[in-house]
Amino acid sequence: MKPLRVAVVGAGPSGLYAAGHLLEGPGGTYLDGRLTTLHTRAVEVDVFDRLPTQWGLVRHGVAPDHPDKKQVATVFEQIAARPGFRFFGNVEVGRDVQTEELSEWYDAVVYAVGATGDATLGIPGEDLPGCLAARAIVAWYNGHPDYRTAPIDLSGERAVVIGNGNVAMDVARLLTTPIDTLARTDIADHALDALRASRVREVVVLGRRGRQHGAFNNPELEELGHLPGVDLAVVHGEPADSADLDPSSARKLRTLHDYATRPSTGAARRIVLRFQTSPLEVLGTEAVRGLRVRGPDGDEVLDAGLVLRAIGYFGTPTPGLPFDHDRGVIPHTDGRITDVPGSYVTGWIKRGPRGIIGTNKKCARDTVRSLLADADAGALRAGTHTGEEVERALRERQPALVDQAGWLAIDHHERAAGLAAGRPRVKVTDLAGQLAHGVR
Ligand code: NAP
Repeated sequence: MKPLRVAVVGAGPSGLYAAGHLLEGPGGTYLDGRLTTLHTRAVEVDVFDRLPTQWGLVRHGVAPDHPDKKQVATVFEQIAARPGFRFFGNVEVGRDVQTEELSEWYDAVVYAVGATGDATLGIPGEDLPGCLAARAIVAWYNGHPDYRTAPIDLSGERAVVIGNGNVAMDVARLLTTPIDTLARTDIADHALDALRASRVREVVVLGRRGRQHGAFNNPELEELGHLPGVDLAVVHGEPADSADLDPSSARKLRTLHDYATRPSTGAARRIVLRFQTSPLEVLGTEAVRGLRVRGPDGDEVLDAGLVLRAIGYFGTPTPGLPFDHDRGVIPHTDGRITDVPGSYVTGWIKRGPRGIIGTNKKCARDTVRSLLADADAGALRAGTHTGEEVERALRERQPALVDQAGWLAIDHHERAAGLAAGRPRVKVTDLAGQLAHGVR
């Protein structure tokens, strides 16, 4: 019997978990606390990414001072080492290969392209230089090649972060963490240099609702309280009666009460957590000079040189696939893309930009179950190309293709550079540099 040949588009957590479920070993896959065998047939998986590197948001989203969260990469390494796994990096679907071609070449295609756009506020001034989506600063300090020259201006004394989810917590922390701490992480060198020269003294984090509705998780909120050399302040949002709250919200309130009652130490840096405060207008003519907000006491202007919107990500359409423009996701039923037989979806582009990295494991399993059920039912149209034929076609179109060995060469180089510098890795952050190591 011919192996089932599947293309996975996107080498982030959701794509790699999908590959993992498809290539599960003889013992099956560990799910819901027990070993589960999803299938017994031979499967070949080709994972595509438009970047030469793997791990998606584990590389470009997780904050550099959270190395524990990056440990999951060892799982991705094991998946990539399984027989039947191939990587086609620096190959962009829509540019180097079309969705229709993938549908034709392979038995099935799984789209795991994440949420590559940003939610917008729809307020005046949002497009001014100096008002950026949090994605830009996150991708910048994490060394994403597309963002290495992002215009992150740290010359003003105050930065405002709109939204108070975990991305906002990451950004507030990175802007205030002592530089010696950051210097021991895998933060991009260009960001380290800029943060060393940063004049930002205060980061204001705006939540539009009350304290108990903060979108942060408890560990991320509590982490702020341990930053050396950083004072904390809490503005607005009267403490609710915690007796009526679930344990998680009650814990948030206790932490915020602690921050609100801490005396100022006169530290060089400060994080202000404001609640019940909504942005009205980004102010400035050539560039951002502040933000007009509305809080419980009326309207107010916060002077700021940098305004970051951490209000959530949003998916972008993939040419050739349907798209739900209201929700920013690919429409599907149980992972089967609507009206595109043989094509499936998983991760943030399936369920929206929510959840932790591990959420993608179950999400990918559900999609892979649908795919395998369709394969078993004979509902998939057989792909036209063998593995060799696919690779030949791709290398003709993209001579700078980075395969698994190429990505491992980039990874090895970064880790070796990190070892010499006492850091987990020193990232190669420009495409040319990555290709110099990764193209064989
Ligand atoms: P998020 O958790 O959805 O938070 C978005 C924030 O923006 C909320 O405070 C929301 O307020 C606010 N917001 C949305 N629209 C707004 C508007 N028009 N005006 C003002 N405020 C607005 O999103 P995120 O922080 O981007 O995180 C995305 C996902 O990644 C989350 O599931 C998060 O937990 C996860 N993540 C996890 C970690 C970690 O584990 N350390 C790190 C980063 C990200 P409302 O609550 O009032 O809507």
